[in-house]
Amino acid sequence: MIDAHLKFYSYNGKRRVLLVEDELINQEILKQILQDSYEVITAATGEEALAVLREQHDTISIVLLDLNLPDMHGSQVLRFLRSDPKYTAIPVIVMTADSDAEVECLNLGAIDFIPKPYPRQKVILARINRTIELSEDRDILRWTERDHLTGLYNKEFFYHYATQFDMFHKDEPTDAVVLDINSFHMINDRYGKAFGDELLRRIAKQALRLFAGSDGMVCRSVADTFLIYCLHREDYSEKLEALSVLLNEDDKSDIRVRLRMGVYSDVDKSLDIERRFDRAKSAADTVKGSFNKVIGRYDHSLHESEVLAEQLIEDFPSAIRDRQFTVYYQPKFDVTSDKPVLNSAEALVRWNHPKLGFISPGVFIPLFERNGLIQELDHAVWSQAAAQIRDWKKRLNVSVPVSVNVSRVDLYDPELIDKLELLVEKNRLDRSELHLEITESAYTDDAKQMVAAVEELRRLGYKIEMDDFGTGYSSLCMLAELPIDALKLDMQFIRSAFRDRRDTRLLEAMIRLAASFKVPTIAEGVETAEQLFALKKMGCDVIQGYYFSPPVPAEKFEAFLTD
Ligand code: C2E
Ligand code: CA
Ligand code: CA
Repeated sequence: MIDAHLKFYSYNGKRRVLLVEDELINQEILKQILQDSYEVITAATGEEALAVLREQHDTISIVLLDLNLPDMHGSQVLRFLRSDPKYTAIPVIVMTADSDAEVECLNLGAIDFIPKPYPRQKVILARINRTIELSEDRDILRWTERDHLTGLYNKEFFYHYATQFDMFHKDEPTDAVVLDINSFHMINDRYGKAFGDELLRRIAKQALRLFAGSDGMVCRSVADTFLIYCLHREDYSEKLEALSVLLNEDDKSDIRVRLRMGVYSDVDKSLDIERRFDRAKSAADTVKGSFNKVIGRYDHSLHESEVLAEQLIEDFPSAIRDRQFTVYYQPKFDVTSDKPVLNSAEALVRWNHPKLGFISPGVFIPLFERNGLIQELDHAVWSQAAAQIRDWKKRLNVSVPVSVNVSRVDLYDPELIDKLELLVEKNRLDRSELHLEITESAYTDDAKQMVAAVEELRRLGYKIEMDDFGTGYSSLCMLAELPIDALKLDMQFIRSAFRDRRDTRLLEAMIRLAASFKVPTIAEGVETAEQLFALKKMGCDVIQGYYFSPPVPAEKFEAFLTD
């Protein structure tokens, strides 16, 4: 696939010249001239030359070609070189006494001439040097257009060519498609980077086969994301199916790779190319993690939600300024004794939007996590929660720990600790009163960095709860090494446990294992008495969920404190 190859220096540090010349005397003269600067390989016949090219084209920087060969005319060698992209990058200088042949040779791709009888040594060397230089520059250019791993265009060039594609297909509807692999990072982790790379190369090869050509083009943008720009077609499921089959066929191992696609159909050509692919990407995101849907489409409702997203981002600064974000509190109950005892609360943010009313964090948190605004929002929430703990202590004389959600971006913030310390100091809290909920998937990003950050926080006295456990990929054994104070079992995980007998055993095993590490477990999303008792029986320590209470405003939460 990779047709742009940079010439390698040969072992002695000199570039290689293939000299195709049958007359010994000429061979000798040229060797004399060249041997100080180049490594010269000679071929005395056309066939010999072709054989060398077939085997060593990668290492040959230039061909010096005599037109009158014993077995063929030099133009046949030129034709051969033009026949395959592997060879077209090799420049050719023709040596001839016949000036009439020049035009024909130029047409066949020769770059320059050396007349016979030979000119002075300096002239010959200068021509050869210059020709090699030019061709290598061109190679480098071609190389940078491409993604080294797959040989596909890189994104910049792809966008550029897509614009050209539009010019050739002005009146035809066109689609922007994003293709990626489900859980690619997991495949990488499990089977190694070499396997991941090989997989990407295979996808590139097959995607190219299926989509490239006169009606489409393919590139790899980042990691496992491929972009396809092509003439409109109604149905992509066949193509995707074909691609999956080819991929899994190619593979000797029995790892099943699942692909996913996002299609922005019949693109609005007034949008710039990048935006068109943003839309395709959003469409792909809608089927992320889905088991039965593999193709997402950019449609009206997605468009609406993007418009909403834009508005929310725009409204964010004024929302912070006007204190539109309020914190609700949901109680967590300790169920280890007969009667449930209030253990702590989780702070959950709500947006009271002046025009849109109450907005659930499910809508804006993922959005703000993507664009980094989450940091400012989280800080506002922590600050409200810290002030609330203090207020309850002062007014009601009760200390109830509150857990706040910490996003993964926060964990990369070098000022995280300073910010927390300031809040603790300002509200005269004990650090153990502020619990930090860190989602499990944050650990899978960069476990080492995460563990270091979390260890530092714990050393200072903050309590760490691992949130959403069971949704990510952490293995149970990892639990032993993670510095955490509590394990929050994910709501979906608990749901499915109660649907399926086998998962109940997994849930039970998890709770038991956590207990063996002296890590208490918290179950969230518990809605029924049946769930509560089952969890309690399994040894779960703390329960949070609608069974006890939904998240409520601070005033309402006080009922749990004064009870
Ligand atoms: P989470 O941290 O897993 O929070 C639990 C979510 O489950 C909350 O949704 C809560 O209202 C809901 N829930 C609690 N009990 C039940 C139940 O029994 N049944 C059902 N169906 N749901 C229950 P909420 O408040 O909509 O928050 C959604 C997510 O938004 C949170 O999931 C959390 O990831 C994020 N979030 C909320 N507030 C913040 C915040 O201040 N900062 C950050 N970074 N994320 C936040
Ligand atoms: Ca949480
Ligand atoms: Ca959670």
